[in-house]
Order: sequence, then structure tokens, then C-alpha cells
Amino acid sequence: MRRRIVAGNWKMNGTVADLATVAEISTAAKTAACEVVLCLPATLIRSARNLVGMEIGGQDCHARAEGAHTGDISAPMLRNAGAGWVILGHSERRRDHAEIDAQVAAKVLAAWEAGLTVILCIGETEAQYRAGETLGVLAAQIAGSLPEGATPANTMIAYEPVWAIGTGLTPSSDEITRAHAFIRARLPDPALSILYGGSVGPANAAAILALRGVDGALVGGASLASETFIPLIHAMEAAHA
Ligand code: PEP
Repeated sequence: MRRRIVAGNWKMNGTVADLATVAEISTAAKTAACEVVLCLPATLIRSARNLVGMEIGGQDCHARAEGAHTGDISAPMLRNAGAGWVILGHSERRRDHAEIDAQVAAKVLAAWEAGLTVILCIGETEAQYRAGETLGVLAAQIAGSLPEGATPANTMIAYEPVWAIGTGLTPSSDEITRAHAFIRARLPDPALSILYGGSVGPANAAAILALRGVDGALVGGASLASETFIPLIHAMEAAHA
């Protein structure tokens, strides 16, 4: 049985006032038949942990545990603040901060060392999709950004086509199924969970989460409000009831 999870990525959104939303989501998470984690801005992690019992994650970490890296946050710092998870290799990090696979791999090792569970994001850009390069890109990103040592306990993969993030566009069911099967065949352990991410919301979650090989969702926009996120938890439960 692979782990089933709905993970929210708040990106650079949320202030103390939004802890009320975390609390609402936490109430639904408590009785959920799947795992639920919210990856919050670092500024909210400690307060969220103090407020609720649910799993909280960060959205990036540095490869070093400490040192002269202004503005960065380390994996032990996330852990110390109360996070149990971290998203790594998100396409917005790869785009905005020019992160390459080797850097992502180093961050994964740092996160494991700190005891964080990693959600490792991979996915093709629109140009790569149009050029039919999706599977080649996924193979290269797995080879380059997933170090040896991944287990179902410390790692999940998120397949996130870059062109589907925040656009309302999604790949076809066949494309998602094919990508997940392709990724699974390249993982060191086929029991690792693979999440789909990219414009998942209440309208399409049931269909996407029911697809073969889809073990959960990584959700951006729809995770910012309990009205749109809690239905995704219920869709996950129904998909594998
Ligand atoms: C994401 O950024 O990981 C994501 C999936 O965003 P959205 O759900 O908004 O497409």
C-alpha cells in the first residue's frame, strides 16, 4: 500500500491572519483517511504548529545546515520550527533561482539528514511538452535530483508539468497515467508515492486522483482556502475508498 496524501503549497502567500484557514484545514485533516500536509511560508511554520496538530512543511531549504547564506533557511531550521516536510525542486525555484538538479539533490540529502520528508518536484516546461520531450526530461530530473537513499518514509515525488501550474490547464488522463508509470519505473523503490500537481481543484480532483499510479496531489492555488482544499481531501478519500 503506497502512502496517499494531499499536500498544499501556499507559496509566497499567507500572514498570521490566515492561520484561521490552517485551523479549518487541520480539523478536516484530523479525521482524514489520507495524509494531509500544508507547506507554508517559513514565517508561519512555528505558529501553525503551535496552533494545530497537523503536518506542516516548508517550501525549500539550503543544502548546508548553517552559515553565511543571507536570506536562506536550512533544513534543521525548518525542523526546529516544527516542519516535518519540505518541497524541493519546485519549478518556481528552478525558474526564479536557477536551481539545477545537482543543487536539488544536495538539498534532498540535507532534508533527509534533518529528518524531513521530501516532496521532490519534477516536470517538463511547455516548450518541452510541445517538443515531445516530457519523458526524457522526467528521466533526467530523476537521475539528477534524486540521490540514493529515497524510501517511502522519507520521499515522495510530485509530477508537476510546469505548464499546468496555476494555468487551469492539465494533461490528459492518459498523459498523467503514462508519466506516473514512467516515473515509477525509474524509482529505486516502486512503493514511493507519486503525487500529481498542476491546477488541481474541486472540479477535477476526483478524476485525477482516481487515475492509476496517482497517489495524491500537490496543490497550489486551491490550498489557500479551506473551501477549495477540504474537498480535495474528501476526493482523495473517495478515490481509494
Ligand atoms: C504548485 O505550485 O505546486 C501547484 C500545483 O500550483 P497550482 O495548484 O496552483 O497549479
